[in-house]
Amino acid sequence: MDLFEYQGKQYFARFGIPVSPGGVADTPEEAVARADEVGYPVVVKAQVQVGGRGKAGGIKLAADAAEVLAHARAILGMDIRGHIVRRLWIEHASEIAREYYASFTLDRSAKLHLGMVSARGGVDIEQVAAEDPDAIARLHVDPTEGLTKSGGRQLVEQAGLDPEARDGAVDLLLKLYSCYVDGDADLVEVNPLILTPEGRVHALDAKVTLDDSASFRHPEWDEFRTLEGDDPRETLAKQKGLQYVGLDGEVGIIANGAGLAMSTCDVVNQVGGQPANFLDIGGGANAEVMANALEVINTDEKVRSIFINVFGGITRGEEVANGIVQALQRVDIGAPIVIRLDGTNAEQGREILKGLESERFVSRPTMLDAARTAVALAGGAPR
Ligand code: GDP
Ligand code: MN
Repeated sequence: MDLFEYQGKQYFARFGIPVSPGGVADTPEEAVARADEVGYPVVVKAQVQVGGRGKAGGIKLAADAAEVLAHARAILGMDIRGHIVRRLWIEHASEIAREYYASFTLDRSAKLHLGMVSARGGVDIEQVAAEDPDAIARLHVDPTEGLTKSGGRQLVEQAGLDPEARDGAVDLLLKLYSCYVDGDADLVEVNPLILTPEGRVHALDAKVTLDDSASFRHPEWDEFRTLEGDDPRETLAKQKGLQYVGLDGEVGIIANGAGLAMSTCDVVNQVGGQPANFLDIGGGANAEVMANALEVINTDEKVRSIFINVFGGITRGEEVANGIVQALQRVDIGAPIVIRLDGTNAEQGREILKGLESERFVSRPTMLDAARTAVALAGGAPR
């Protein structure tokens, strides 16, 4: 589960990580009230789960109530890379001497935690990694040992943080590591981590991804869930109990089994298309599940074609085909459909689907064929 910045900062604060005092606001009037509480100058910050808010105009300094009002009106409702701003975080503005970067995440290939620190913060860290990889200090941390003070010191020294920032940064790193491990996060990222002119080190932004597998021991995470995400497709899919992840492409995907769904995304990519989603309908593939899946994909205006990729196992081909026939009677589909049905009783299944064959419903025998057809129907030029 990804947290919004304001939730991430609330989480940070529980582990003693220094953050600025602030409050949330859903209207311009509330923004002024929060600003009056925390004291001017303030920063008006768009709460969306996407980076680069500053560049997009979603982060603004305000010296007085009139400026807060103007910025709040401009930012609420703003579309930041496909995310509509519905909530603001208003915090007391910090003075910045230097901007750094710090994060902890899991390095799956090394089977160790990975801490990263850079003196080049406040900018896109992927860009720093590409242009100047040596500007990012990296330290693998054995989970059985944890981050030690000397490990933290090594990170800040290697990153070349200013000498006056080092003690504060090591202290913050130890707390950030404990937030990451004890707080059951998959990722904690602070960009920028700032040094103030008075020499304090402080988290100015917060990106936190909680490990959903650990949610059973964190009943308090429920409060974060109330406003989770803002992708209406994912909300609808969750209501329908589907394993759905929204993506940015134009080919809607329905597959049975997570492995097949992933392979389907890969094959669509391979032939030059972009998946609109990952959707695993599980083993059942009955009419109910198929109709639900099609309904969710139908709400996505970017979808130009739908690729149904089903491998019959315990669920036989004719059951799958009947499920699709019934689902199509229930849902009015906006985009053409390509289906690849294989596995147990695939022949019988395809026989049933023949009744549906048209320009807007085509059956293809192989996954590659079907992917190419789906990409072509979506207006692309398949490879
Ligand atoms: P992001 O663009 O989505 O990563 O949003 P951030 O929260 O990181 O803010 C972007 C930039 O806005 C920061 O790198 C700072 O340069 C600036 N900024 C954010 N908060 C403050 C603040 O309290 N004071 C000042 N002077 N600048 C700020
Ligand atoms: Mn940031």
